Amino acid sequence: MTPPARHDNAAVTEGIEIDPDVRDWMKQARLPEGTARKVTLRGNPVLHRPCQEVTEFGDELRQLVADMFVSMEAASGVGLAANQIGVDARVFVYNCPDASEEFQTGAIVNPVLVPVPGQALTPPVEDEEGCLSVPGEYAPLARPGVAEVQGQDITGKPLRVRGDGLLARCLQHETDHLNGLLYVDRLAGPELSRVLSSLEERISKGDLPFWSEGA
Ligand SMILES: [Zn+2]
Repeated sequence: MTPPARHDNAAVTEGIEIDPDVRDWMKQARLPEGTARKVTLRGNPVLHRPCQEVTEFGDELRQLVADMFVSMEAASGVGLAANQIGVDARVFVYNCPDASEEFQTGAIVNPVLVPVPGQALTPPVEDEEGCLSVPGEYAPLARPGVAEVQGQDITGKPLRVRGDGLLARCLQHETDHLNGLLYVDRLAGPELSRVLSSLEERISKGDLPFWSEGA
């Protein structure tokens, strides 16, 4: 069954503290107040198919991006894709440190990963990765240590963002989401089984964070 394109998850009403960098970014972009939404769990169909291209750069998109920032903050995430609050649209937000521990904040619409010069010559970096849609679980995953996405800002202007460190991982992880891929889909069999059985146990015990769908 295909859910409707616009499907707002239930609102989260507790534990929301917005990082000053995110607050500033939202103010500068003249975003409306956002509402935190519950984060979709692995298994929700909206996470497992490619999202739709964004073609309208108006108030609805601004509200969506505001809701995404606030949802990311409620869940203490460093990045969030629209389908993680149940919305079928190619956009993600981030507030994530790069290799020099500087937090970078932004929103990217219709992102596509583009090759970075020299990337193929640099060995991939293995690090622990986690996802708000697979709450509480982490697994080591190798990814290129530098990444660049090309897309649009929330007004439709062309935008490129390049990142290293955790930001490189985040740009790849979030673009994957919009293509219907979770990081666990990139894990080898045994690691995947470990993460999934641990998640199942967490779900059956009702041990999900307050911001998670199903909690
Ligand atoms: Zn994720």
